Amino acid sequence: MKLLTQAIVTLLIAQSAVVVAKGNADTIFYGGPIVTVNPKNEEVEALAVQKGKIVAVGSKDTVMKDWKTNTTKLVDLKGQTLMPGFVEPHVHIILTAVMEGLGLNLSNFTLPYDTKETLINKMKAHLKNIPKGGWLVGFGVDPSRTSPFMAELNADDLDQVSKEVPIFIVNQSGHIAYVNRKALELSGITNKTPNPPGGGVYVKDAKGQLTGKLVEPPSYLAFLSKMPPPSESDLLNAVIGTMRNIASVGVTTASEMSVGANFGVDKEIAIYKGIFAKNASPIRVRGYLFSEAMPKGYNSVKANDGDDSLRFIGIKYIADGSTQGLTAALNQPYTYPKDSKWSGALNFKDADMYASMKSFFDQGWQLSTHSNGDRAIDQTLNSYSKLLGSNPQSKDRRLRIEHFTINNEGQVKKAVNLGVIPSFTIGHVDYWGSAFHNHIVGPDRAKRIDPAAEFKRAGGKFTLHSDTPVSNVGPLNYITESVTRMWQLPPQKVLGPDQAVSVDDAIRAITIDAAYQIFADKLVGSLEVGKQADFVVLEKNPRKTPPAEIRNIKVRGTWIDGKPVSLK
Ligand SMILES: [Zn+2]
Repeated sequence: MKLLTQAIVTLLIAQSAVVVAKGNADTIFYGGPIVTVNPKNEEVEALAVQKGKIVAVGSKDTVMKDWKTNTTKLVDLKGQTLMPGFVEPHVHIILTAVMEGLGLNLSNFTLPYDTKETLINKMKAHLKNIPKGGWLVGFGVDPSRTSPFMAELNADDLDQVSKEVPIFIVNQSGHIAYVNRKALELSGITNKTPNPPGGGVYVKDAKGQLTGKLVEPPSYLAFLSKMPPPSESDLLNAVIGTMRNIASVGVTTASEMSVGANFGVDKEIAIYKGIFAKNASPIRVRGYLFSEAMPKGYNSVKANDGDDSLRFIGIKYIADGSTQGLTAALNQPYTYPKDSKWSGALNFKDADMYASMKSFFDQGWQLSTHSNGDRAIDQTLNSYSKLLGSNPQSKDRRLRIEHFTINNEGQVKKAVNLGVIPSFTIGHVDYWGSAFHNHIVGPDRAKRIDPAAEFKRAGGKFTLHSDTPVSNVGPLNYITESVTRMWQLPPQKVLGPDQAVSVDDAIRAITIDAAYQIFADKLVGSLEVGKQADFVVLEKNPRKTPPAEIRNIKVRGTWIDGKPVSLK
């Protein structure tokens, strides 16, 4: 018996040796640094791909000897760097398509800032594109990045653009919108209309008159329902266009964080399934269904339905608003305007949040909760703690908190103990850091925003994202932002140097740790044998580039399953 076992073992070893020796790779990459992001953080000389999967990494000599045949395609990197395709854990693809692809894109991440006047002129110039009966829909105005600080549109300003065409402009944060009087008239919202459920506010002035400002998405619904919907083909093209933009910056997997928020859950799931059925997506997508878009008892989709390309894995909650929009729920009041007593508002009562989460949690969904302010973070951590019960880390539920912007040390520790992984909108430091520090929350709270290094020191993971359309997708830019923590507006300053991370930590946050966060770490996120051949080819090695310049490195190609992604 023992002899037989030995014989079998010997045979198996011999067979596997034969398989390795006869390896017929479809493609071998060599000729430039190959940054694996494996547990040892190795760089290797060559990588072989067979049937869409990585089959070998190592020295050029060994990989060529074991895997090259006369049909193998050789890709000489010519000094360029090969890395795992970036994983973007928090985007809004359909919203970005609607806002930037179909509407007027007013986002401005450069200097100088816009003024009310330049914004009004941009909208006036866009009027000619609006068909009869259409709405002027725009996105990206941002009072916290407008000159003078906090210059905010109102119905009077928008009436200057047009009194005939209804206008609906969403703030860069996504949590605030502005409408003109024609839009109010068509939507039927008057001074007497009560605020909608779910935290929405039709803002009124001291005399009880609507100002044209809308707070939180439930207040948008009366307007959205009156707009002519985009044609199916325009919408589809815009969605695919947004996916290509995301792929063009090296992203191979992205998480859509609000399936259903624009057109309902069933329609948006159908949009994604349709695109993937036609093989028209240049990226893998993981979907989180928007809690408020799901009718009670909704179960058309089950947790983790899908495949390696498209999978629905989570439910997304929004616990509060936007910090730069002054709607995030804080434990202490905002410091703007001076002597303000306002500290934002929670979207849920504690019991309602827990009850809603409990049913989805028990069905096996991952949960992800937008919590910008420390009061919202407290509420979310308390709900998660109750859901996870004792020994939370052993349950491997990888519960997420999005943004984690205004926070305290205790919250970081509690999150790490619960195995909760935050994802930071690291552009907060770059584009809004000066506004947080100088005006909105003051220096002490501002220096702690996006506490990436503290998560690392406490033994936790973190990830970085754009939240597009809130900021532009660009993982290399997130490296620069999280490593330098330099804000954009002169005089520039480093915001919270002790929260700065190393380049390698930032790389993990846009590759393997982001893959872990979306339960895709067995599939992608590092260049290791057995994983899918999802790559980005970079002009330079970010590990050898000064941090401030990493954001300027050119993306030379994006590959999925060992094939170059077409961006046309
Ligand atoms: Zn978001």
